[in-house]
This record gives sequence, structure tokens and C-alpha cells, in this order.
Amino acid sequence: MPTRRSTADKLKKPLLYLLVFLFLLSGTLYYYVKGETDAPGFSDWVDEYTPDGMEVHFLDVGQGSSTLLLCGESAVLVDGGEYENGFDIVSYLKHHGVEKLDLLVATHNHSDHIGGLIVVLQKMTVNEVLLNGSTAETTDTQSENEFTSRLLFNGAIATTAEAEMVYEFSGMQISVLQANNDSADENENSIVLRADFENTSVLLTGDIGNETENELINIGVNLDCDILQAAHHGSNHSNSADFIVQTSPSIAVISCGENNIYNHPGEDSLHRLRQANTAVYRTDVMGTIVFACNDNNIKIISDGKEE
Ligand SMILES: [Zn+2]
Repeated sequence: MPTRRSTADKLKKPLLYLLVFLFLLSGTLYYYVKGETDAPGFSDWVDEYTPDGMEVHFLDVGQGSSTLLLCGESAVLVDGGEYENGFDIVSYLKHHGVEKLDLLVATHNHSDHIGGLIVVLQKMTVNEVLLNGSTAETTDTQSENEFTSRLLFNGAIATTAEAEMVYEFSGMQISVLQANNDSADENENSIVLRADFENTSVLLTGDIGNETENELINIGVNLDCDILQAAHHGSNHSNSADFIVQTSPSIAVISCGENNIYNHPGEDSLHRLRQANTAVYRTDVMGTIVFACNDNNIKIISDGKEE
């Protein structure tokens, strides 16, 4: 008996430590999980609205670009802003119940597009990654190298984009319109995608300039869309009058950061869009902008950064 009491006494302290440790751990886990699921800067009303069509989320990643397409159970992410944006994107995805990405697209190898994808590849299950296959020299080699190693580690299928590729996800079609990768200017190597759901079309243009815009017009692909992601963050050297005529969007979205050093969007570019009676939405002004496309209607939701 004395031996037993002594063993019990010996156990008391470690048990107490264990209980304190578990208590602290539960608190840490609570905040960890909470932090993982709370989408920073995004209002609760998004939870109240669950359309069954296609949702296009232009995420506010500051001076960069990241677009999430959701349809049924499918999720496609096109670009991921800079590295630090990747953590917010993962939170945002989980907040919207996305546990797995069917397709991840790296339009081109600049850090304001692939940086955040490094984190996404680290933290998410990804089925397939679409790459531009470019070997153009960029100044973002660190991001490129980290992206490549994370991609290998993730185990996702890596596919080099080719024009006319078409993916089908829950009634949403994703088509590759442009997949050049031999320009010395990496922006011009951006993969250009078209997303179609019922009668709604969205054109995602990466950072292409007038050169690729003209090429797209000349090859005669269907550029007509409802929502145009203005090319290269609304740069003056993109979004030519001809390209706007061919795309004839009712809505243009510009993804750029407040007071960015590039002066994006350019005044001339904005003028050309307005001349074509295109409604312009900007992430630097409105924050994240979501378009819910259903029954041939487009409902616009922003996170209320500006009323
Ligand atoms: Zn860019």
C-alpha cells in the first residue's frame, strides 16, 4: 500500500503538468483553427449567399492578381499574388469550404502571380497545375525556384498549357486561349483563359500586353465575354481599344494595389474601358469582388472595403 501511495504521489505532478499542457494546447489549437478559417477582411454575409452557379472571386491581394472560380464542388485558382498573400488565400479557401483545388493556374512566372501559390501548394491538396512552360529570364528567380520545388513536393500533376485545351468542372468550362511561352517578355507569355458557365463568360488575361492582345485578335478566337479581367493590372500598354471592342465586356475588373508604384491602372486604359461603356471594378478600391453567375444573371458582391 505505501508503495502505491508513493507512486500516486509521484504521478500527481506530471499529471498536473499534463493537464496544464493540454489546457494551453487546446487554447492554442482553438486560435490556430480560428485563424485558419477566418478569412481576413471578408464580411460574414458571404456565408449567407450560396448560389448554385459559378462564382468568380477576384481576391484583394494588393498589387498582384488572384482569381478563384467555384462551381458545384469544383474549385480553380488562377494565380496567387505575392508570397505573403498565400496565407490569406489558404484561409479564404478554407472559409469557403474548399479543401482541394481541381486546377491551379500559374499564368506566368512573376512573383505577384506565383508567390502566393508557393504557400497554396504547401498547404492544399491540388490535383493539377497548369504552367506556361516559359523559360524567359525574370528577376523573380527565387519565387520561381520555390514554386517549382513546392510543386514537386505537392505531387500535383504538372501540365504545360496549350491553346485549345478545355477543362470541364461541374458545368463550368475552362478553355486555354493563349499559351505562348517563347517571348522574352514574360508578361506576354501569360496563359489566357476563358471560363464559361451557361451564357456567362469570363476572360482572364494575366499580364499580357498589346502584342498578345493583337495576336489573340488575329487568330480569331472567341474573345467575347461578360467579365474581363483587365490585362496587366489595367496597364496603359494593355487593354487596347481593339481588344476592348473584341472582348466587349459589360464588366472589367482591375486587380491592383492602392497607390502602387506602377501607377496601375493607367488613366488611358481606364478611359478606353469607359468609352466602351464598361463598368470598372477595382480591388484597390473595393477589396475582394465576387461575381455570382447564375441563370444568366450576374450578381456583384464586394467585401465592402468601400460602400
Ligand atoms: Zn502582375
